[in-house]
Amino acid sequence: MNFEQTLSIVKPNALEKNALGDIINRFEKSGLKVIAIKMLLLDRQTAAGFYKEHEGQPYFEKLMKFMTRNPIVVQVLEGIDAVAKNREIMGPTSYMNGPEGTIRKDYADDITYNAVHGSDSPESAKKEIAYFFRENEIFPNYSVK
Ligand code: ADP
Ligand code: MG
Repeated sequence: MNFEQTLSIVKPNALEKNALGDIINRFEKSGLKVIAIKMLLLDRQTAAGFYKEHEGQPYFEKLMKFMTRNPIVVQVLEGIDAVAKNREIMGPTSYMNGPEGTIRKDYADDITYNAVHGSDSPESAKKEIAYFFRENEIFPNYSVK
């Protein structure tokens, strides 16, 4: 068990469906805590930088158009095994074969328009968090005072 942070993105199709609250609620109910959050409209360059490992894939242009078509919400989630827990709540990339009750099963429109992003390892979480947040925008491990 590791106390971790992970980057979560609520993608444009989920915001278009008014599903932001439901999605955040699923994270909070599972014990993950929102310790940073912002809404932004990505430009192509920022979207391409975030997904640079996917450049050249047949779906890359579709992914760029999707991620820039409307605002997204980026957040840092913190908790025990946050990286894996977020991925579990999201459901797999091939969401069609994923378990019922996952965010992607409920809100994905297709394999690209899949409602949410979650970092795939603690290492990529660190990089992805730094891509969107300055240190003073993140509030680790806060609790009742
Ligand atoms: P995940 O988001 O589950 O980590 P990947 O990192 O493999 O998945 O892909 C990044 C994003 O690119 C996915 O969330 C999805 O929006 C899109 N994508 C991935 N694979 C495909 C595919 N085979 N066809 C269309 N879009 C894809
Ligand atoms: Mg990924």
